[in-house]
Amino acid sequence: MSTAGFNSQNGTGTGQTYTNGPSQNPVALQQPPGVGYGMNHQPAYNPMQTKVLGPPSPALYASGPYQPVPPGPQLGSYPPPPAQPLLTRPPIGVLPSHTPPQSASPGPGPRQAQATPPAQATPPPPAVTSTSYYTGPPAWQYAAPRGPAPNHVNPAAAAPPHMSHGSAQPPGPGAPPTSIHGYPQPGTAPPPMNPPPPHTYQPNRPAYGPPPTAPPAGPPGATGTPPPPKVDAQSWGAASSARPPTEPDTQEGDVECPGDVAGNGPQAPNSYNHVDNRMAGAAQPGPPGRHLGHYPSLPPGYQNTLAPPPSSLHPALQAATQPYIQGPQPYQQQPGGPGPDQLSPSMAAMSLQSGTPEALRVVNLLQERNLLPPAPVPAPTPCLTQDLQKLNCSPEVFRCTLTSIPQTQSLLNKAKLPLGLLLHPFKDLSLPVVTSSTIVRCRSCRTYINPFVSFLDQRRWKCNLCYRVNDVPEEFMYNPVSRSYGEPHKRPEVQNATIEFIAPSEYMLRPPQPAVYLFVLDVSHNAVETGYLSVFCQSLLDNINALPGDSRTKVGFITFDSTIHFYNLQEGLSQPQMLIVSDIEDIFLPTPDSLLVNLNECKELVQDLLKSLPNLFEKTMETQSALGSALQAAFKLLSPTGGRMSVFQTQLPNLGVGALQSREDPNQRASAKDVQHLSPATDFYKKLALDCSGQQVAVDLFLLSAQYCDLASLGCISRFSAGSVYYYPSYHHQHNPAQVERFQRDLKRYLTRKIGFEAVMRIRCTKGLSIHTFHGNFFVRSTDLLSLPNVNPDAGFAVQMSIEENLDDMQVVSFQAALLYTSSKGERRIRVHTMCLPVVSSLSDVFAGADVQAVTGLLACMAVDRSVTSSLSDARDAMTNAAIDSLSSYRQSALTIQQPGLLAPACLRLFPLYILALLKQKAFRTGTSTRLDERVFAMYQLKYQPLAFAMLMIHPALYRLDDLSDEGALNINERTIPQPRVLQLSVEKLSREGAFLMDAGLVMYLWIGRNCHQNFLSQVLGVSSYAAVPEKLCLLPELDTAESQRTRALVSWLRDQRPFFPSLHIIRDESQLKPHFMQNMIEDRTESALSYYEFLLHLQQQISK
Ligand SMILES: [Zn+2]
Repeated sequence: MSTAGFNSQNGTGTGQTYTNGPSQNPVALQQPPGVGYGMNHQPAYNPMQTKVLGPPSPALYASGPYQPVPPGPQLGSYPPPPAQPLLTRPPIGVLPSHTPPQSASPGPGPRQAQATPPAQATPPPPAVTSTSYYTGPPAWQYAAPRGPAPNHVNPAAAAPPHMSHGSAQPPGPGAPPTSIHGYPQPGTAPPPMNPPPPHTYQPNRPAYGPPPTAPPAGPPGATGTPPPPKVDAQSWGAASSARPPTEPDTQEGDVECPGDVAGNGPQAPNSYNHVDNRMAGAAQPGPPGRHLGHYPSLPPGYQNTLAPPPSSLHPALQAATQPYIQGPQPYQQQPGGPGPDQLSPSMAAMSLQSGTPEALRVVNLLQERNLLPPAPVPAPTPCLTQDLQKLNCSPEVFRCTLTSIPQTQSLLNKAKLPLGLLLHPFKDLSLPVVTSSTIVRCRSCRTYINPFVSFLDQRRWKCNLCYRVNDVPEEFMYNPVSRSYGEPHKRPEVQNATIEFIAPSEYMLRPPQPAVYLFVLDVSHNAVETGYLSVFCQSLLDNINALPGDSRTKVGFITFDSTIHFYNLQEGLSQPQMLIVSDIEDIFLPTPDSLLVNLNECKELVQDLLKSLPNLFEKTMETQSALGSALQAAFKLLSPTGGRMSVFQTQLPNLGVGALQSREDPNQRASAKDVQHLSPATDFYKKLALDCSGQQVAVDLFLLSAQYCDLASLGCISRFSAGSVYYYPSYHHQHNPAQVERFQRDLKRYLTRKIGFEAVMRIRCTKGLSIHTFHGNFFVRSTDLLSLPNVNPDAGFAVQMSIEENLDDMQVVSFQAALLYTSSKGERRIRVHTMCLPVVSSLSDVFAGADVQAVTGLLACMAVDRSVTSSLSDARDAMTNAAIDSLSSYRQSALTIQQPGLLAPACLRLFPLYILALLKQKAFRTGTSTRLDERVFAMYQLKYQPLAFAMLMIHPALYRLDDLSDEGALNINERTIPQPRVLQLSVEKLSREGAFLMDAGLVMYLWIGRNCHQNFLSQVLGVSSYAAVPEKLCLLPELDTAESQRTRALVSWLRDQRPFFPSLHIIRDESQLKPHFMQNMIEDRTESALSYYEFLLHLQQQISK
């Protein structure tokens, strides 16, 4: 959150995030072009917060613990086997042989070394098992003429590219397009890196019709396609012009590879005239360029003509239809076709769509108390014509805080609402998958063709993001679905807002790597005490055949306490071999070739290991934890291939690099003052995470502990490597069965869910809009390219945007997220989501389109940043001010009739309630005892969870369960699922005679009233009386009664809605957990926080000031 943004809300700010003006692209600021993180190292995670965030200075890193130490003698140091039964101790003699490589690594000076991706440091290729790596087929010789690069993929940013670039490495991995490539900052000199897109593609292109032939022409960006009227625009314009060339070849990412046809480079630019002429027969194209000019402009008199449409409020509507009206298009698109141009402006449809009256209904919050809809709040529908909306991206994947985009930044500023996107890009979905050698993209901005482009004729389409006119490649004329020719607008790419491509080799920087899973397990005394190890081992045994992957899948294990233990699982061994390295200051890999093994070939050894691990450390008395060294070892092991590192930790690491000290003062947990230590104590974890990111390694952290573990520091390892954090406070195999069940379920999901490797995501938006701040777990490689070594279906992201150029002439704008990844089966795939939204010019329309949940979700992300970079109290003030400012603006500028009360448009009626909920959320609350790790975890969750789940954390759903009926029930797979009404979170709504379920996302509480109906007790809980309800009950018994079935159906249906497993606590009035339940009664007053009504009065008071 931009501090600024919030400040501005306070009326003082300058820069403002959302309110703000020209978006200073913070990310860019952070990374001087071409500079790897090595330099500044501010990974732009929170651009806005740069000032504060970086704790220790880079120097620390350099000199720090991190650097490789000369290899060495230590080998000998293999300690004698611990007391525990070892599997087999490697003959010491052997070790040395393995070490040589090691020595190589240390070579480089300290930070030099650091700079160079460790991968390099580590043993040379030989060590790397995958031979194929260097020998890849020419196919993947990525067109980019870049010099050899050490790490293929490496994120530019992360890598110290420069240093390494020159270095000798197999030319193989194309150069990692580094950030440099990304969007060249104005100052940067892209040329060298942007060789013109390879023309390789041309050849394929059947020399069909006229089009291609057309005169070639100038450089891509240049000409021909006259940009839309307003193109020149400053910042973006400049950037974009520079960019086209760049991108093509660069990178990985969605980044564009030359391949895409659209890019057929050189040939196009000026050719349109000719094309047009040639096509004359088919349609009479207007003068070239003309379309462009026309597109945005409003037909004269339009306003008048349309006056009648129902809600004049909805320019959006007009907008959507305009293109159509405007024009006699040369090529009559089929109705129902894609693209705004072909929308049939059915007024009827439009008026139906405009449900706005309701959205703008004036609500006096002080009077209307019961604001919750009976069922969970749905996402608002953008005010588009039905035809467009039908094609639009699902709100489950892509949501915008304002479903009607303000025409100008000043209009946005007036609304005082944040503008941003919330994404759930890799959500489990069934979606169309296209295999094609031709992935059609805009030659200028690299946008993938999508339902919202317009076809000028059969041979040309106009990009909906930059308005460039592109050729339709010949291959695209054939529709594989209908098997017909000549209907490019019916291709699946143009009919689906969400689609996946199997990418050709141009999208690879190296051959797709196998799925590699490395498990790093805490086996200290503390860990063994919790009993987690046997649950983990059993779970992996149970799911080992369901790990996503193919015949190349590899696995490996490292365990650690005060030393690091490796496991030789090489095929042919009769049993796993344990190798212990006690020199944690100089971690090396004892037998680099046999620690990560092919799962299929070595499955038996792996299973043996999993069966024996829990016993192996049963009697350990080792209390120390050298987590930092274990992570370094794991990083070395994974560097050559990338992959997923799963770390299980149960205590504060207290030995070697990355050691931490307790920073929590338990006496301050309930303090009403600011909370300290929300930022990391060391940047060790962050830096290691960036190294990991550079080598396509993501780290997932499972923290199971009753004690403070400094999640604020440890979590960085996942946050910046695009991993996830799981937290099980007070985990204990006997004392906390609910946590154990949750851990088991989470593990099952974790081990078996879909996974993407070597991923990058780029989000594009229509010219004039600008994306600036990102939220979630990743590393920002270049200004808009997120590096995601792993991507999983449960990860959410958010971005903030500003409006850099007026959108006056546009009726709609679009957003596109493209996620390029390697599937677990080794396919390179691109998942593309495109969303289209109307542009509006009046403040009321902006308000009418507000998506209150998205606004809340984005504010929560911003507030987390603010808490860390500034202070918790600042963040709290900023959130309150967000409500005050927007309602105040609504009152002053959007309301035509003034009336007393605290007024809100109906679509924002829940805004103050959600803000209050945030203030009482674990992440932000004060005055209520909150463990620091739990608070930090809640912050992570708010930033990382997809909106739907984050909203449950913020504002849990409360249902009454003792009177469930089948009325209005859903029927799914022959199961009847009751749909009780969602109740306000107030004790008023509870009754001693009832039983109430609170669904708070990760956890559910079933509260049983003291006088609960006997019927419910016996038929659902199977107990005879209230007193007989056991303490710590966390399972609903499976009784053969209608009541039991209904109740269980509802609970399991709710659980099925999310990928993680919420634990259920059945609590009585005296239960220890009751306070947790009661704390979620957001509308009620507590000692330290206002009731909802009081909060409203406070807002009103501020507004009327
Ligand atoms: Zn474009």
